[in-house]
Amino acid sequence: MTGRRAVFLDRDGVLAVPEFRDGRSFAVRRLEDFRLYEDAAECCWQLKQAGFLLVVVTNQPDVGHGLVEQSVVDAMHRRLTAALPVDAIESCYHTRDDGCDCRKPKPAMLRRAAARLGIDCAQSFMIGDRSSDVAAGRAAGCTTIFIDLGYCGEAPEDPDYTVFSLSEATRLILGVG
Ligand SMILES: [Mg+2]
Ligand SMILES: [Zn+2]
Repeated sequence: MTGRRAVFLDRDGVLAVPEFRDGRSFAVRRLEDFRLYEDAAECCWQLKQAGFLLVVVTNQPDVGHGLVEQSVVDAMHRRLTAALPVDAIESCYHTRDDGCDCRKPKPAMLRRAAARLGIDCAQSFMIGDRSSDVAAGRAAGCTTIFIDLGYCGEAPEDPDYTVFSLSEATRLILGVG
């Protein structure tokens, strides 16, 4: 039996508009600031219609740091799933110092969703805006697509593809761009 194809998507800087501090992107901390990119719905629907499962994999260390209640992140994810045809959201709430096994660049969130949903990672993609996304995707065996939003020092060494927007990533995956 062959597995299903998926696109794993980072949340902030890919689907959701981040805040920028010190030249890098961060998750917004208030529900009222949570906004999706204008092209997110169209891109997700195109990928969905092409047969891909859509799985969000997101580090949310502000929860572990006590800066955001998990209930606020849960509310953001209810909005996200109401607006976009995603099949699952995997979240890591730990801080770097927690030493958990799920925080990207580790691939556990991708692997967990793959096992649950019957995904073949070798036929799947990981889209992210940080080197840790690319590293997690690579470790899980996915084709990796880095969205270069111009952050200082964030260019990963080894993405399979580099693009500049989710729309461009989507066109690449669908082979029409
Ligand atoms: Mg991100
Ligand atoms: Zn974790």
